[in-house]
Amino acid sequence: MMKKLYPKLYVENIGSITASMLRKMGMEAVVLDVDNTLVPHDDPNPTVEVENFLADMRQGGIKICVVSNNSEERVKPFCERIGVTYFVSDALKPRAYGYLKAAEIMGVKAEKTVGIGDQIFTDIWGANRAGCYSILVKPIDTKTEPFYIKIKRILEKPFVKR
Ligand SMILES: [Mg+2]
Repeated sequence: MMKKLYPKLYVENIGSITASMLRKMGMEAVVLDVDNTLVPHDDPNPTVEVENFLADMRQGGIKICVVSNNSEERVKPFCERIGVTYFVSDALKPRAYGYLKAAEIMGVKAEKTVGIGDQIFTDIWGANRAGCYSILVKPIDTKTEPFYIKIKRILEKPFVKR
């Protein structure tokens, strides 16, 4: 189980992940977390950096799916705003379910899919369990996070360090 908690890669921000880099790794799709990966917890608007990241993925032919534990009510309008067609809401991360479902609706294999997220115990664990590649990004804004996530971050520290 412990092995499944380690991200395959750690980056400071999502902008340093490029379509050409993913292509070289043989990847065809990305599965994106929403809160603190694409936008802060209380802000529905993506930054220019995130917009550029999405544009680069599209230009590079990398398919995009948003996978969130949030309800469809929240996830669907967000995806419409950022122009992402595929999404899985109520994803039950860290279960593999959301990642496998994402791969299925994009028509790609899980092992050619990259799970990108800011939390080890939901995004990374779920992606690894589904057999996806996993990239941990530094959370956009930790100040506005609910208390329970702050606790999780303390528990995550040894895994991020490695
Ligand atoms: Mg998150």
